[in-house]
Amino acid sequence: MRTPPETPLDKDVVAWTRLLADPSDASAVVRALARPPIELRQVDLARVIQIARRRKLDMLAALRAALDAPQLPPEARSRIGRFLELHGAAAEALDAARPDLLARAALGAERATPEGASRREHPGEEALRDIQRIVSEEVLADVLRIGAHLNELRLDTDLDVSHGLVRYMELLKLSALAQRPPGQSLAETLADVNARLLAAATALQREILESSPLDATLLSLERTSTAVSPKPAPARSSATTPPAEPSLHPFLPRKGVGLALSASDIETYRSCPLRYKFARVLRIPTEPTVGQRFGIVVHQVLERYHSAGGRTLAQLMDLLEASWRRAGFADGGRDERELHAKARLALERYHARLHTQEAEPVWFERQFTLQIGPHHLRGRVDRVDRLPEEAYELIDYKTSRPRPREELGEDVQLSLYALAARESWGLQAVTGAYYHVLDDLKVSLPREARPERVRDTVMEVGEGILAQRFDPTPSRAACSLCDFRIVCPAAER
Ligand code: SF4
Repeated sequence: MRTPPETPLDKDVVAWTRLLADPSDASAVVRALARPPIELRQVDLARVIQIARRRKLDMLAALRAALDAPQLPPEARSRIGRFLELHGAAAEALDAARPDLLARAALGAERATPEGASRREHPGEEALRDIQRIVSEEVLADVLRIGAHLNELRLDTDLDVSHGLVRYMELLKLSALAQRPPGQSLAETLADVNARLLAAATALQREILESSPLDATLLSLERTSTAVSPKPAPARSSATTPPAEPSLHPFLPRKGVGLALSASDIETYRSCPLRYKFARVLRIPTEPTVGQRFGIVVHQVLERYHSAGGRTLAQLMDLLEASWRRAGFADGGRDERELHAKARLALERYHARLHTQEAEPVWFERQFTLQIGPHHLRGRVDRVDRLPEEAYELIDYKTSRPRPREELGEDVQLSLYALAARESWGLQAVTGAYYHVLDDLKVSLPREARPERVRDTVMEVGEGILAQRFDPTPSRAACSLCDFRIVCPAAER
């Protein structure tokens, strides 16, 4: 039986549950910040993540620090303050075992469908009512909070009052939209109502009103509503990329007029541009999976073995045991014992192959830099073997399953390495191969894979990143391996 699709609300609940259980779960925190009722702009998300990385804090600690950070505008700080209040309430509710309060605090509003309303017939209208309910609760909460501070001598009273008034204007806006004449689109009404509200607002209120993400949310609601738009809208990252968002240009990995890129950056962007944005522009922290930790251990063991001039199998096994313990695998259960046995067997085979092959390994972990157009490419080749007649083979270790050889015609990584070996190291007659360590299988780059083609790929990817084209390209294969499914509005299940 086909699993029913996960709604955005289901994913919000999962994100809040995850972040309450584990405050270091950055992806869950990012989703809760990007979604109603907080709707922190992505540029402010990027700033908070930057604070977390620079000060080595988890996301919750970084959000607390962001309340005093000058790089965050007051509007963003107010949203972060609201998130922290909600988090506190939700954590208290969790402690008191009040799951009803937890759900309410986490999502900002009760989202039950009113009696008789049909989710299928009026999805857009129902969501509009939900937002109206959330904002009216926020307005009431603001009245209490701001009113409590009016008697105090404070420098930011004006700002607080303006935020409260703008929230009230947004409630008026939602009420006008909900009562618009039949047949009038949400976008048309929004333009009229905005003009009237802006005419009545002060300069400060106008600034706050214009930087609010509410309009983007409402417009995406109309786009995705089957009641208003009979064709399904393409999967877009509207929850995290409203059209009025400021540019993410300061967070792109710039180097000179181009970008600093690696083979893995290029492959990530090609597999899904939104995934690239989450990983390399917003730089949402992720915890390595067991498979990734395992891969790191195998790479480290081989690097240390070769750089110490290792010869014997016993040396290789000693290095494995030391790296295994350092990686925190030592007290493992059954799965870890199985992985350990696999690693031992794989390294035994590696050792046997190394000492029977004709080729002579000459460099290990050799680094390169390469300029393609305005972009700076960098990387490191696991091993370079000298073959007879001054030819060289570039070897990249893999601990993942082998890809079918036909797919390697479009390969980026080894093609880029081969180009770098010629242009940066001056080597001629270069070939490349993936060595799948667990399977003791070497898969060579096919002849039709021309390294020169990778130049065009780099230029296309660079242009897409610089133009901030980060639309998702969901697929079962890409999404199943993606660390950002909880944040992503387009994830395939
Ligand atoms: S979950 Fe899928 S669509 Fe979303 S960012 Fe990841 S790979 Fe892209």
